[in-house]
Amino acid sequence: MRVAVVGSGFAGSLLARVLAVQGHDVVLLERGTHPRFAIGESSTPLANLTLERLARRYGLDDCYDLAAHGRWVARFPELRRGLKRGFTFYRHHAGRPFVSDGSRTERLLVAASPNDHIADNHWLRADVDHHFVRAAVASGVEYRDRTEVTAEMLKALRADFVMDASGPGGFMARQLAIPSALRRMHTNSGLLFSHFDGVRLFSDVVPPPGLPPGPYPDDWAAVHHIIEEGWMYSLRFDHGVTSAGFVLKRRVAGTPEQQWRYLLGRYPTVGALFDGAKPLMPLAYKPRIQHRLTRAAGPGWAMLPHAYAFVDPLFSTGIAWSLRAIERLGLLFEKEGGPTEQDLARYDAALSDEADQIDMLVAGAYHAMARFDLFAAHAMIYFAAVSFAEIRQRLLKDEEFAWSGFLGVGDPTLGGLPRASLRRLRHVRTPADRRSFINWVTNAIAPRNVCGLANPAAHGLYPVDLDVLVQRHRVLGMSRASLISALPALRA
Ligand SMILES: Cc1cc2nc3c(=O)[nH]c(=O)nc-3n(C[C@H](O)[C@H](O)[C@H](O)COP(=O)(O)OP(=O)(O)OC[C@H]3O[C@@H](n4cnc5c(N)ncnc54)[C@H](O)[C@@H]3O)c2cc1C
Repeated sequence: MRVAVVGSGFAGSLLARVLAVQGHDVVLLERGTHPRFAIGESSTPLANLTLERLARRYGLDDCYDLAAHGRWVARFPELRRGLKRGFTFYRHHAGRPFVSDGSRTERLLVAASPNDHIADNHWLRADVDHHFVRAAVASGVEYRDRTEVTAEMLKALRADFVMDASGPGGFMARQLAIPSALRRMHTNSGLLFSHFDGVRLFSDVVPPPGLPPGPYPDDWAAVHHIIEEGWMYSLRFDHGVTSAGFVLKRRVAGTPEQQWRYLLGRYPTVGALFDGAKPLMPLAYKPRIQHRLTRAAGPGWAMLPHAYAFVDPLFSTGIAWSLRAIERLGLLFEKEGGPTEQDLARYDAALSDEADQIDMLVAGAYHAMARFDLFAAHAMIYFAAVSFAEIRQRLLKDEEFAWSGFLGVGDPTLGGLPRASLRRLRHVRTPADRRSFINWVTNAIAPRNVCGLANPAAHGLYPVDLDVLVQRHRVLGMSRASLISALPALRA
């Protein structure tokens, strides 16, 4: 088939390459050119598992190496990235320095990997996206950059199928006048962001008595600073640059520089982190970062997730979701004649359910941010869903994973939890309500809790603990002995 892919972010380029490897005739069209700045940098274990599956299925050995920090550094030292050992959260209070109190901690660390070698990465998108474009070209994709795509151009290209990978650029939405579905989204946030040089380490600025040792060094992670106005992400790259942004529930007054100074001034420990740090490009503010359409596919076209919907950077869902969609579309294009109408309807329904799921999970988290114990409990729904999916994918090697629902969609235990949690959080008022919410989460995730999450004795510090996994072999439907013999797959 002749396929036109509009947009050459990592997702459009990788999909174009998968299709070219399958023997399709692919043209990749880009409005801008590479290298170029892009946001959306923090990868996750589920993203890396999909990269590894794509690598195996289509012979893309670079994707295999990019799926783990140690392999990436050894093979592609020139592609800049950051070590990501897990998810770090702190709750800050206006006018007060952050204090780590061992018993009522406002610090949560959830390890995603047991060591640096097989850890995840933050992707410096300028480098990584450029790599994926070059790899697509090397696989036979025809690439045209600085190209403003029009309906006439697509006609002239005689494309049988159009993939919209234009992200919020919304190419297909404009071509087909697809209505927005933004009104159905619960999440509403704006973004103040840049890349910075000279951001200090949290452990160096936190006041005495400092931080009790965690399962990994706190800063080598996707770091989330929760504040009254929303939260800040901070992603540290190995070459000393940090990507950081405040994600805000309400606009703060002033220019981006004034907003930045105001927020750093209000939260002294965050202020200390950025004391002396220099933005590498002007700070920018985007008022509402969500977008959502009513359709993701139809006869002769399909969208990648970022063209269809975006919720929020919280929980780093974008890269993993995009890769999952590439995997699904790749499988559909392996079929003689390409995807049928039914296939595309299935793809459309999957993306719709998943966009709702991400939205509910994130909206619940915003509600829960007021109290850190609530937030940490709600976050356990995310960690239970992704860790259960990850362990199953690592141990059970089922090719159908491509179509298994993202973040527990379709799982009879996990599927409804983000919605139920959001509903409950709206009614939490008293300390007794909080305790009952935390108990509810603990019980609700128990049938999928393979990692010992929601354990008060952990005091918010969760390492990758294979002993806990072995104890919970029944949750995975495995005997103790078969789980033990499968453990090497987790360390690969
Ligand atoms: C603030 C923020 C933080 C995020 N943080 C994370 C995170 O930590 N982890 C995570 O997993 N995800 C994150 N995401 C999501 C992540 O950015 C996306 O999942 C990812 O960028 C999707 O990549 P893509 O290639 O589909 O689209 P994009 O990266 O958006 O690329 C789209 C490409 O299409 C081109 N284009 C647009 N319109 C046209 C047109 N008409 N014709 C031709 N070309 C066109 C653009 O120039 C661009 O090159 C974040 C997103 C935001 C907004």
